[in-house]
Amino acid sequence: MTFPAVCRLVPAVVLFSGAGLLAQQPFQFPTANHALYEIGNELKFFAPTAPDKPWTTGSFGCVRSDGWQMHEGLDIRCLQRGKHDEPADPIMATADGTVVYFNTRPSLSNYGNYIVVRHIVEGLEIYSLYAHLSAVRPGLKIGDPVKAGEVIATMGRTSNAETILPWRAHVHFELNVLVNDNFAAWFKKSSPGERNDHGEWNGQNLNGLDVREILLAEHNPKGGFSLLNFICGQTELCRVLVRAANFPYLKRYPMLVLKNPVAEKEGVAGYEIALNYNAVAFALLPRAASEIKGKAKFQLLSVNEEEERAHHCRKLVVQRGGRWQLTNAGLRELELLTY
Ligand SMILES: [Zn+2]
Repeated sequence: MTFPAVCRLVPAVVLFSGAGLLAQQPFQFPTANHALYEIGNELKFFAPTAPDKPWTTGSFGCVRSDGWQMHEGLDIRCLQRGKHDEPADPIMATADGTVVYFNTRPSLSNYGNYIVVRHIVEGLEIYSLYAHLSAVRPGLKIGDPVKAGEVIATMGRTSNAETILPWRAHVHFELNVLVNDNFAAWFKKSSPGERNDHGEWNGQNLNGLDVREILLAEHNPKGGFSLLNFICGQTELCRVLVRAANFPYLKRYPMLVLKNPVAEKEGVAGYEIALNYNAVAFALLPRAASEIKGKAKFQLLSVNEEEERAHHCRKLVVQRGGRWQLTNAGLRELELLTY
């Protein structure tokens, strides 16, 4: 059985009825900098990693270390300066949502001070993240509802891993899927002795979507942007089979689960899963025991070699002796997904 090009689609008419045009532009810019749309002027929007580096180093994807390091968000340049030339841009919620986490001890994260907000868009749980903040808005509490465009923080230069020079001041902005509610327990078991100060709001548990593509797609004057279609339409890096039938992602993202009458009849013994290059599981096909060959808990079924050549920085799969295999990084992603 092959996957359909896109997973179960909710007809656009149903999705957007009564919601007007807003539903087609679910995400707003987190600052007043909207220069992303000025094609050719990308350096007005993105903060590159060094003055002589291209704007793409501040964008999403395998854009760091000559293509070997992932950057899971957008580095959006500062527009306003305050005292001592420090960044002063207000940071705004990208959509209506709920504050689920903030870290105000910058020494505990390479994100420095950061905020995570949960949104429900077309039924999908999506988590926006805003990093390197100088301060969270006074009085803001975890659990507070926020409106799209509501100020939640001030831009800054905080991080425990890198020195963000004043010229490069930016907000690091992500849109993510959440991998597993049990992240903290999994991390303790899989990384003994390592610290996790952020519970399930650790960046390793948030797999980023290409925010640049999303913001550009929803700006398309023809309209019709759907986040669900965007996720379902991801390019497959590889297909894996997991011998696990019950894990939180299935309940969180039921719209990404496909139909299989055989598994419905015989019972689900595992899932065939399509992953994009950033390990986002975007289509999950239930499988019956009679359809599964081999005993391994995780099996690599196929690799899209063209996609792997184009985006290989997460190193989820590797070719050894002419055969593709899951790497330790790939296995780790699957262990977390199915924990
Ligand atoms: Zn960044």
